[in-house]
Amino acid sequence: MTKDKAEGGGDDMLLDGCEFEQRQRNAVPEGFNSNYLKLYYGKLFPHIDIYKWMSYGNDGKHPSCDPSYFGRREFSFTLENDIYLRFQSFNSTAELENSIKDKCPFKIDIGPVYSVDPSKRHAYAQSGDNVFTPMERELIFDIDITDYDDVRYCCSGADVCLDCWPLMTIAIKVIDTALRDDFGFNNILWVYSGRRGVHCWVCDGRARRLTNEQRAAIAEYFHVYRGNENSHKKVSFQGPLHPFLVRSYNEVLETFFEEKLLCGQQLFATEERFEKILNMIPEQSIASELWGKWQETRRSSTSKEDINIVRWKQLKRLLQSGKQKGLRKCVEEIIFTYAYPRIDMEVSKHMNHLLKAPFCVHPKTGRVCVPIDPSHCEDFDPTTVPTLSTLLEELNMCGSEVEIDNELDRTSLGQSIKFFRSSFLQPLLKSCKEDMESSYNAKIQQSKNSLSW
Ligand SMILES: [Zn+2]
Repeated sequence: MTKDKAEGGGDDMLLDGCEFEQRQRNAVPEGFNSNYLKLYYGKLFPHIDIYKWMSYGNDGKHPSCDPSYFGRREFSFTLENDIYLRFQSFNSTAELENSIKDKCPFKIDIGPVYSVDPSKRHAYAQSGDNVFTPMERELIFDIDITDYDDVRYCCSGADVCLDCWPLMTIAIKVIDTALRDDFGFNNILWVYSGRRGVHCWVCDGRARRLTNEQRAAIAEYFHVYRGNENSHKKVSFQGPLHPFLVRSYNEVLETFFEEKLLCGQQLFATEERFEKILNMIPEQSIASELWGKWQETRRSSTSKEDINIVRWKQLKRLLQSGKQKGLRKCVEEIIFTYAYPRIDMEVSKHMNHLLKAPFCVHPKTGRVCVPIDPSHCEDFDPTTVPTLSTLLEELNMCGSEVEIDNELDRTSLGQSIKFFRSSFLQPLLKSCKEDMESSYNAKIQQSKNSLSW
């Protein structure tokens, strides 16, 4: 509510409404409650876009459409007080929308497309024809910053800040490039998880139809960590690096490590921290030499340069001037340990893993799970994404004279939804249409061939 509008007169009802909202907001500092959520689902949540996405073109009139497709998708709702409603399914955008508005779920998860309607799975089981099995699912990645707690010192647990968020930026850059260049996928959606990580949805038909074994192989492709809690070295390379790892290192990891993480995380600032890195050097004499040097400079540092940069340069010089190949490789192993993406392997490996839907609101932060543009992911700031309470405030500022259709555009969520449509949904649906067309033509051709002889 702007001051001008308040003084404009004739808007008393609105003013009262706003003041009421304002008081409500003050009463809930984290900006999340079920009344807010009801308004959000009623006015802002993009039900139709989610329906269109999950239909993958099967909601049209093309003869190749599978009208049962959307209805075989599992949705799972988490209600207030952690009540889980698994295996929800819907046959139209109206059914989906009405159910969401009615149940007002604190979280919506999306599961696979099953062989039969998941809400009727018991009926199929009783008929003795037990065919309830997942058939399709986006290839998904879940990256959670809590998995980096041994290499970030600014925050721990569920907290994130702009010093540790570059770890997520690195993950997006590395994985996105590999999915496009190495696997040839095009329809990829990155989403902020609302609190401490990112999700990736690979939606190409080829990705959706991967078997669990194929998913596991792709997850393995990204997996370089071999160590455990107790080993100093999380990454150890034998033989030449895979070209994907060389490219990730040259294009992303090295720069981000040196320009963001080194000083952002103060990786060499205390004895405990630099000892952790020195422990990764296989040559004891070099580790001791550096340790001795840094013990001294701790007492008499006159350099204007940042101590983390100075120490990193010293370590690199000693390791890279050595003749032993293993020592030079150690620089790469340190950078991989501190910067390389850590994906939750289990989520990617199995078709029937649930993943939170985009545009949900995180109950603890009130932040909306907005898409992230992978080509500008370094500009994404998790602390400034739209929150439930700011969105409702923006809605109030719009006043009652704005058309419903325009309400979304007036809020900071409008941009996110525009981006979702233009850079993800439209190209995806275009390629779905092309796929349908070509599979239809192939079928026609096949039946012609079988008739012709
Ligand atoms: Zn942090």
